Amino acid sequence: MQIAVSGGKGGTGKSTVAINLAVELARRFKLVLADLDVEAPNDHLLLGVELANEEPVNQFMPKFDYSKCIKCRKCAEVCEEHAIITLKDGTPFLMPNLCSGCRACEIVCPVPGAIQEAFKVIGHTYVTETPYGFTLVTGKLREGEERSMPLVVETKKRARKLNYELLLVDTAAGTGNTVSKAIEGSKLLIAVTEPTPLGIHDTELILQLGKLMGLKTWVVVNRSDLGDVGKVREIAESYGAEVVAEIPYSENIVRSYVSGRPIVLEDVPEAKIFRELAERIVGFLGGGE
Ligand code: SF4
Ligand code: SF4
Repeated sequence: MQIAVSGGKGGTGKSTVAINLAVELARRFKLVLADLDVEAPNDHLLLGVELANEEPVNQFMPKFDYSKCIKCRKCAEVCEEHAIITLKDGTPFLMPNLCSGCRACEIVCPVPGAIQEAFKVIGHTYVTETPYGFTLVTGKLREGEERSMPLVVETKKRARKLNYELLLVDTAAGTGNTVSKAIEGSKLLIAVTEPTPLGIHDTELILQLGKLMGLKTWVVVNRSDLGDVGKVREIAESYGAEVVAEIPYSENIVRSYVSGRPIVLEDVPEAKIFRELAERIVGFLGGGE
C-alpha cells in the first residue's frame, strides 16, 4: 500500500506532516517513508537522523570516439536538450549538464562505436533506519544537476525493494511530472496547503492533479489561522476532496522543526492533530471510509 503527502506550493509544511504521520503510522504498519523531494530533501533533518547507506545514481551520457566519428552532426540534430554542440567541421562536443541520458544520439549515430557509453553520477539514494521504528529512503540530487526525474524513479525503486506494509511518499512541491511520478500508485493523496491566496491557487492545481490521476484526495491546512480556510474547503469540495485537518500556526511546531524531534512525540495539543489524522488514515486503509 502506498499513500502520498504532497502540496502545490513549497514551504507549506508538507515534510512536517509527512514525518509526523510516519512516526504515528509506524506504530500500526511496517512503514517506509520515501523522501522524493530530491532537490531539497529534509525529512532526515526533521527526524534528526544522519543519512546512511549511500548509493550513487548513474545516468548515461555519450562519449565520442573521434577516431571513428565522421562528423555528420546527426547526434547534435537529434538532441532535444541541445546538449551536443558541433564545431564548424561537424566535430561534436557534449555539455554534460544538459544531457538527459535519453540515448537518442546513440541510436541515430550511423557509425558503430563512434558513440560509446559513459555515465555520470546525478545524485544518491540513502536508506536510513530511524529511531522511530521505520525506514527512511531519501533521494538527493547532486548540486548543479537539473533533472530530478531519474533520481525520483531510482529512489522510489529502492524504497519498493524494502519490506513494508505501507509506503508513505513525501513529494516535491508543485505539480510537475516528478510529482506525478512520486504520487503514482498511491491509494490516498494528502495535499498540504496554507490558506493564503497563493496557497489556495496551488491547492487547486494539486487537486486537479489528484482528480486527473483518479485519487482519493484529502487536504490538510497548515497555519490555518492565517487565512480563509472556508475558501480552501470550498475549492476542495468542488474537486470531491475534503479538508481533514487544520493545523494552526504554532511555536511548538517551529521548536520541533528546529530540534529535529517530531512533535507527535510531545505532550502538546498540536500532537493530537497528527494522531487523529493518522487514525483516520488507518481507518481509510482498512476500508473504513
Ligand atoms: S543522451 Fe539524449 S540528451 Fe544526452 S546528448 Fe544524447 S541525445 Fe542529447
Ligand atoms: S552521429 Fe556519430 S558519427 Fe555523426 S557526428 Fe555524432 S558521433 Fe559523429
